Amino acid sequence: MGIGLKEIILVKNGELVLKGLNRSNFEDVLIKNMRRHLADLGSFTFTKSQSTIMVEPNDENTDLDDAADALKKVFGIAALSRAAVCEKDMNQIIKTAKNYLEEQLLPVKTFKVEAKRSDKKFPLNSPQICRELGGELLKTFHHLKVDVHNPDITVTVEIRDKFAFVRGGNIKGAGGMPTGTSGRAAVLISGGIDSPVAAYMMAKRGIELVAVHFASPPYTSELALIKVEDLLRKVAAYSGTITTYIVPFTEIQEAIRDYCPEDYSTLVMRRIMMKISEIIAKNQNCLALITGESVGQVASQTIYALGCTDSATDMPVFRPCIGMDKDEIIAVSRKIDTFETSVQPYEDCCTVFTPKHPKTRPKPQEVIDAESKIPNLDEMISKAVQSSKREFIR
Ligand code: ATP
Ligand code: MG
Repeated sequence: MGIGLKEIILVKNGELVLKGLNRSNFEDVLIKNMRRHLADLGSFTFTKSQSTIMVEPNDENTDLDDAADALKKVFGIAALSRAAVCEKDMNQIIKTAKNYLEEQLLPVKTFKVEAKRSDKKFPLNSPQICRELGGELLKTFHHLKVDVHNPDITVTVEIRDKFAFVRGGNIKGAGGMPTGTSGRAAVLISGGIDSPVAAYMMAKRGIELVAVHFASPPYTSELALIKVEDLLRKVAAYSGTITTYIVPFTEIQEAIRDYCPEDYSTLVMRRIMMKISEIIAKNQNCLALITGESVGQVASQTIYALGCTDSATDMPVFRPCIGMDKDEIIAVSRKIDTFETSVQPYEDCCTVFTPKHPKTRPKPQEVIDAESKIPNLDEMISKAVQSSKREFIR
């Protein structure tokens, strides 16, 4: 611990605790991810102790508000709290608690004090620390009452080796598992509401994302592309850098329009998207595909249609929105701040040549027959993969 430092952040990891022998590994990935999220905000020292990771700024001018905000977006963190560091002396602890926690104590009605001693040589035991600090807080903040069962705020004092920590309420973390601990998967990203939410949900489970977007200029505009990049940046604030492929899709869409029976065109298009995504995903060592589909939302998302789309690939397809209502998906998109971007009105390639009467109960063989009407499809697919543009979105 550097001398003169006054405040640190304590991070509680969530499910990592369940991981037994792998725990240390998971914590190392979590610390690496925290470092990345904090990279622009200063230099920090990370110390593991039990299920807590201590994040200590190396320079006392570091803005901990910004650091706490950044850490709120790191998956694998259940909760974080800020703690004041002070000398291991009861008077200092009392003084620190009164000053440091004033802002948190003024708006609440009830509190309790908890004490933890890892230094058993400290002259007061835990109940004595609680009683003494509790009494002093009651004297200073006359509006407060003690409630040991259901307090508005818990004031925690920890007596460690060299210093004491004083902290108030917890801040909820992003939850989930550290990005990169569950392998990689490729998300088919549109400019819509659902696929950014799907990407976020799978990243939350520890998956590192690759993104694939199909663009059909001149039917889709440059602005539609910028919108997708904006969405991916919002997701990347949680997931870390997303390797993104922009696939030119115009030629294939025109071929679908020219050669396939109109009623099957959307499903043929969805199958070709899966095939192209699978090739890119395998090149990128991804183990699954991710889409934003939800049962029954549109004609191409009935369970009949989803079956036809699924059979275009032998990779697992993750559809985390599958059982969600639109308003539930929107609630997540608002939480991760993608909603306002998603509702900007630019054309997606899906909406360019929509059939008037899409099949809602297609049979897989009918869709495959429709698809086989396109001449040189395999060549067009290879060409689309080869001429796709790669960028790194962070
Ligand atoms: P979204 O809100 O994610 O666009 P949606 O309900 O509008 O979903 P569709 O447009 O039918 O549904 O698309 C279904 C899924 O197909 C999307 O969630 C996405 O995963 C994928 N997808 C659609 N359009 C594209 C595209 N242009 N590029 C890549 N993937 C796409
Ligand atoms: Mg869409």
